[in-house]
Amino acid sequence: MNPAAVLSCLSCSIVSGVATTPGGTVLETDRFHVHQDARHAIPGFMIVTTKRHLVAFDELDEAEAVELALILRRVRRAQRGVLGTEHTHLLVNEDTRHHFHAWMLPKHPWMNAYGQGAEAMRAALIQSASRPPTPAEREATVEACARIRDTLAAPFHE
Ligand SMILES: [Zn+2]
Repeated sequence: MNPAAVLSCLSCSIVSGVATTPGGTVLETDRFHVHQDARHAIPGFMIVTTKRHLVAFDELDEAEAVELALILRRVRRAQRGVLGTEHTHLLVNEDTRHHFHAWMLPKHPWMNAYGQGAEAMRAALIQSASRPPTPAEREATVEACARIRDTLAAPFHE
């Protein structure tokens, strides 16, 4: 790990353990790290990030690309099992100060007030970040991490 990158990149900081997120590490493999979004206390809002410091999707090597798809599928299924998630917003934003990561935002019932699609996702995130989380929100977020971690530790069945 490049020490300069750890200091300047939140993803590198989290992957290396310098920075922590609510609920801790949800899944770690040789190539990927999964954790709660650091900014929003929304239960099940998982971030899937590469361990390597890279930015664009086409910088993934083949093994990373294959594993990413498999992890996204597993996390998505865990969101459904743990939270009853019917819809997930899945987003890769290369225009970021951090390194490559995918957002997996489960659509909770309170988000229905914002409609559907990318605009609804944006509005829900703005609302969530507009105030500090309540203790109950923090607790629910940490609990969701633990339950998703347990689900991902179990064998995956097709
Ligand atoms: Zn990085």
